[in-house]
Amino acid sequence: MSSVIDLHSHSTISDGLFTPSELVRRAAAQGVRVLALTDHDDVAGLDEARAVAVEAGIALVNGVEISATWNKRSVHIVGLHIAPAYGPLRDGLAAIRAGRGERAMRIAAELERAGIPGSLEGAYAYAANPGIISRTHFARFLVAKGIVKDTRTVFKKYLVKGKPGYVEHRWADFSDAIGWIRASGGIAVLAHPGRYDLGRTNLGNLIADFKEAGGEAIEVVTGNHTAEQFIQFASFAREFDLLASCGSDFHGVGESYMDLGRLPALPSGCKPVWHDWPEMSPEHVGRKSEAPSAAGAPYTADNAALIRPTY
Ligand SMILES: [Zn+2]
Ligand SMILES: [Zn+2]
Repeated sequence: MSSVIDLHSHSTISDGLFTPSELVRRAAAQGVRVLALTDHDDVAGLDEARAVAVEAGIALVNGVEISATWNKRSVHIVGLHIAPAYGPLRDGLAAIRAGRGERAMRIAAELERAGIPGSLEGAYAYAANPGIISRTHFARFLVAKGIVKDTRTVFKKYLVKGKPGYVEHRWADFSDAIGWIRASGGIAVLAHPGRYDLGRTNLGNLIADFKEAGGEAIEVVTGNHTAEQFIQFASFAREFDLLASCGSDFHGVGESYMDLGRLPALPSGCKPVWHDWPEMSPEHVGRKSEAPSAAGAPYTADNAALIRPTY
C-alpha cells in the first residue's frame, strides 16, 4: 500500500541516515507526493530538500520537530509550513542546539560512570551535523561497540530514565515552541502523543495545554503508534477539536517502524491537517479519488494486524 502524504521525516541534518536529497528521492520512489522534512531542532536541510523535490516532482512542506519540555517531560512539537528564516524561530532552535551539546557531555559522563568510555567522540562520529547531537547518535555508538544489538534495544536498556546514560534536560518551553511555529506562519502539531508514556488523564492534560497554547493538530497515524492508538488519538482529536496529521517519523531503513509512503489512512471522522492545503489538490496528488484520504487502505478492524507496526 502506498500513501501519498508523509508529514514527519528526518535527514542527516538531525538523526536520520539519509541526506536531505536521498530522503526526498526515496520518498518520491515510494510514491509520496507531499513530504514534510521535520529534522529535530534544525531547518538546515530544507533548501537542499526543496531543490530535489522540485526535480522529483513532489511537494516539500517546510517542517521542523522542536524538542520541548512540558511538566518536566520532554515532548516533540512538529511545525508544518513554517517560515525557516523567521528570527525568533531560528534563535529558539539555536538555543536548543546549544543545549544539546551540553547534554551530550553529561550523557557521556554518565556512560563513563557505567563503564563505557569514549562515547562523546563515538557519538559525534555518527553526527553528520555536529550541531544536532542526539541520543540516537549515542545509540549507534553503543551498537557499533557491540554493547547492544540494535538501536531500538538501546532505548530499553540505556539512555532512558532509570538506565545508564540517562540525564535530565530542559528543552524549549512548551508554549514558546508552539508560539515560534505559529508566529512564523506554521501549524503546530503534537508529535506522536502515544509515545510519552502518559495515562489517560495526563494525556488529556497535555493535549488541553497544547491546544490552549495555540496547537492546532495532533499526529494520529505515525510509525510510533499501534493501530489501537490510531483509533485512540483519532478520538482525542475529535474530543479536542484538533486537526489530524500523519507521518512515518522515518529515520532510516532498519531504524524506523514505518517506511516512507507506507502509512495507513487516517481513521474516519478525522479532519486532516492538510484539508485546505494547495499541495493536496487533485492535480498534485493524482487521481481525485486519492485526494480525500491521501493514503493507503483505510483502517478497519479487519486489517488492523496488517498495519500494526512490527516493533
Ligand atoms: Zn519525535
Ligand atoms: Zn521525529
